[in-house]
Amino acid sequence: MNSTIAHDKDPMGRAIADYHKTGKAGKLRVLSSMFYEDEIPVPTLFRTFDKMPPQEQAAIELCRGRVLDMGAGAGCHSLELQQRGHDVVAIDISELSVQVMKERGIDARLINFFDETFTEKFNTILLAMNGIGIVGKAEKLPQFFQNAKRLLAPGGQILLDSSDIRYIFMNDDGSMDINLAAGYYGEVDYKMRYRNTTGEPFDWLYIDFDTLSMYANESGFNCEKCADGEHYDYLARLTVKL
Ligand code: SAH
Repeated sequence: MNSTIAHDKDPMGRAIADYHKTGKAGKLRVLSSMFYEDEIPVPTLFRTFDKMPPQEQAAIELCRGRVLDMGAGAGCHSLELQQRGHDVVAIDISELSVQVMKERGIDARLINFFDETFTEKFNTILLAMNGIGIVGKAEKLPQFFQNAKRLLAPGGQILLDSSDIRYIFMNDDGSMDINLAAGYYGEVDYKMRYRNTTGEPFDWLYIDFDTLSMYANESGFNCEKCADGEHYDYLARLTVKL
């Protein structure tokens, strides 16, 4: 899991690079076997603090000390945190996005979160826009926590937002169409497309707060909810148990 994404397989990176260069971009399409086709409006990847949803604003305000912006994309959170005086390192597996972030004045590195040779220490690890999604499957959460422990300075914290996507499977009477044998219901498959660039399919995890807490506890983390979002989403703060 230490890989990075090449230019020709990187729709989001291309969209970010286009928008950075020209102020415009085409449609960044998100395809899944589980949902109708969706779209990520590219300007939202360049959002400023006032355009961020409340739980992201809360996350920014809870950041302390040296911050790792994990899966930083166009670097919108890194820029805001830098302006607030934080020492910030942004990592991403997209070469194109890392290049854009460097041009925007961010200390951005082409590093996969799971790369064990990355051993710097941070007071805060920020995973914005459901960054925890990178684990793909709930069963990989222990590996995520192990990596996070390696990167956290003593007393450090993880800030992440995610969503409980059970509403997607809910019927009008409140019952749910979920196949319990198929694994955790927040595990989704995605593929992105931008102009003529199609990315590799990938697994992405949305996790409800209770399930996250359970995994966090098993891996030696405390997990507290800091804010509820507007649509089954929330912000959580995790710290290593003493
Ligand atoms: N945090 C940004 C971008 C979110 S999109 C924002 O809120 O706007 C998710 C980003 O995570 C993408 O840029 C993707 O390239 C990156 N990413 C996915 N897997 C990763 C991994 N294992 N390590 C580091 N970055 C990763």
